[in-house]
Amino acid sequence: PDAVKNKGDLPRYARINYLKSSSQQVREKLDSGGWKFVEGDHKDHQNFLKTISNLKEAEYTSDHDLRDLLVFPAGTDLHDDPLVQSGQLILQDKASCFPAHVLGAAAGSHIIDSCAAPGNKTSHVCSLIRNDGKIHAFDRDRKRLQMMERLLRTTGSTCVRAVCRDFLTVKPSHPDYRDVEYILVDPSCSGSGMANRMDHIVDSETAMSGDRLKSLARFQISILKHALRFPSVRRVVYSTCSVHATENEEVVEEVYEQVSDKFDLVSAMPAWPERGLPQYEHASKFCRLSVESALTNGFFVACFQRKEQYNYQND
Ligand code: SAM
Repeated sequence: PDAVKNKGDLPRYARINYLKSSSQQVREKLDSGGWKFVEGDHKDHQNFLKTISNLKEAEYTSDHDLRDLLVFPAGTDLHDDPLVQSGQLILQDKASCFPAHVLGAAAGSHIIDSCAAPGNKTSHVCSLIRNDGKIHAFDRDRKRLQMMERLLRTTGSTCVRAVCRDFLTVKPSHPDYRDVEYILVDPSCSGSGMANRMDHIVDSETAMSGDRLKSLARFQISILKHALRFPSVRRVVYSTCSVHATENEEVVEEVYEQVSDKFDLVSAMPAWPERGLPQYEHASKFCRLSVESALTNGFFVACFQRKEQYNYQND
């Protein structure tokens, strides 16, 4: 993992879209197209990392943690593959697949994706609930919303109402949102976890001014607090592709202090080895992903759960 500096060096992750296919169908198609499935060692996290680092050309395996994810060797270009073109496989980094699983939305439920475009996580939730439910997907950027609408069409995500709107203007008391039980909060962030982004190199806390990070954090706090105001919400999952505590642990700890009478912080992906930074009180509840621990982009996930709901089954 130490040698991985470029995004191109990370394994290629592809999510199986249950709205268009199944694990078995995708594997049959890959196998008949000349791909070789590698069993590998899926019991132990470190061995799994070795397996995926050593995948050879035309080999692939299933992910150790997420049941709907496949892993291909670094540098594999699947963009033109018929499975991708038809929306049966979605090219999506493993880290960005965590929030939909942590959300664990029940089929038939009402969900909000507060910062949804270009729709990777929205379409992932649709896949997990098999379009059985209702998702209000908001984004304030019209161009990105159009990208999301395209992705939703390709993936067959039909249970979404996509709206170009600032989530902060969405009234929690409006009757349309009375039954919303699950909310994803994946707001704009510094993107500092993205391995070597060519368009925006932000490698360290010093590369981005403290003021800019603090202003991002203020915005992230406002979005997260707004999500926690919806009257029936049971679970709110907060995520960023930032490595900075300012946008991660500090945002969540500050908001938790204000809502701890109503919400608990529950362990996001409890079996995952890399937790939050240890100097923060609720570090063990948070989950971080990194090139080093996961062979993914840097990512952070936290999960709030309303206090009455003690019987919730973690995914
Ligand atoms: N969840 C998306 C996915 O998985 O494809 C990625 C979301 S991206 C990290 C953050 C998004 O938040 C951007 O598309 C941005 O336009 C949107 N955004 C920022 N502020 C917003 C607000 N106040 N209300 C709604 N969307 C907002």
